Amino acid sequence: MIQDIFPHRLFNEFLPKTQPNPSDIIICLQGNTIMIGGSPGNMIFPKRDDFSVGLECRYLFSLDESRIFIAVKDEIDTLPGFCYMSLKEIRQKMKKPLSYMYVAYTAWHLAEWYRDNHFCGRCENETHISEKERAMICPKCGNIIYPRIVPAVIVGVINGDKILMTKYANRNLDEVASCKFAHDKSSSNFFLFFRSLRQPIILPVKEIFHYAISPKYTLSTLGMVKSQNPAP
Ligand SMILES: [Zn+2]
Repeated sequence: MIQDIFPHRLFNEFLPKTQPNPSDIIICLQGNTIMIGGSPGNMIFPKRDDFSVGLECRYLFSLDESRIFIAVKDEIDTLPGFCYMSLKEIRQKMKKPLSYMYVAYTAWHLAEWYRDNHFCGRCENETHISEKERAMICPKCGNIIYPRIVPAVIVGVINGDKILMTKYANRNLDEVASCKFAHDKSSSNFFLFFRSLRQPIILPVKEIFHYAISPKYTLSTLGMVKSQNPAP
């Protein structure tokens, strides 16, 4: 899976005042494409030092010691040795290192969120970036917009002909749901599987097997894992 980057680690703390050093990675967007260099199997991103002009950058996250920023302005001129590619082209042509594939997808998710929420969906006023957390705030109506998270792992815990269901805490809802956990951009699906079982209940399981998974890693991804015969 694209998010299985161990032993690399993602650090997604919100650090709005962080500015890039010469060796930090800059993600540049042009429409639905990202500026990429290197060769197939050995892709690279531009570094701050590669740009001779001033750039307004926004800190996104870090991969190990590498800090990742996005150029606030779109349509940055292509640097020598680089070109703009879509995520699909990057996945099919460049492929590795896998940790950089993960950087491309994760940066794209955040960049798309910033771009899509430039205006408030309630009152259409221009939003601004929160100084306290990763959020966009509408100064007119107070709407706070957070990056979307979606269920990444759905677990079916089966005992004979019964399946374990859960209910949301502190919500006046009659509906029940299977165990699931939303992705937070820092965990593998394998880890989420176990966390999804230990958050609603502490439940030992055995005979864990994979059931189905979405073929792509996007905001709408729904992975599914299923286990059966929980230990007594
Ligand atoms: Zn508003």
